[in-house]
Amino acid sequence: MRNIFLFLFVFLTNQLVFSQNAKDFSNNIYLKKLNNDSLYVRQKRKVINEYIHAKPGHWGEFVKGVDEDICTDKKYIAFTFDACGGEKGTGYNDSLINYLQKEKIQATLFVSGLWIDAHFNTFLNLSKDSLFEIENHGLNHKPCSIDGESEYGINGTASVADAFGSVNFYV
Ligand SMILES: [Zn+2]
Repeated sequence: MRNIFLFLFVFLTNQLVFSQNAKDFSNNIYLKKLNNDSLYVRQKRKVINEYIHAKPGHWGEFVKGVDEDICTDKKYIAFTFDACGGEKGTGYNDSLINYLQKEKIQATLFVSGLWIDAHFNTFLNLSKDSLFEIENHGLNHKPCSIDGESEYGINGTASVADAFGSVNFYV
């Protein structure tokens, strides 16, 4: 009986800490904390001041300087999956992930902050699996722009400040 109480205490404590962490790291809470961090605010001001008059030059997936191919006679394949988040992309394909894990297939997962908000515990587990490389798919799944260009029907960030961090912050 004593062991059951101990187990329940440990289980409940872990659940409390886990859910508290998920809440602490949600996009909005995290951005509020960042905006109270003087180092972050100073860095953001510096970037905004440096690029405030920059003119947008190129837009799209295929811009000069980005490699799209690898030249090799070997058979390579790279699996990448997007976890977009938001209204149309908060799903999680656990049968796909389970298959990759079962077959020991490596993949790169591009994950947005919105998706992490919806699947915090799943994200933590995926990030601990060495099969997966986790990459940035944007905090709010917005294309990175300094003048609000759009892609796939999604409005990009509207300014340098917005691109740095989509929060209410003014120079
Ligand atoms: Zn996406």
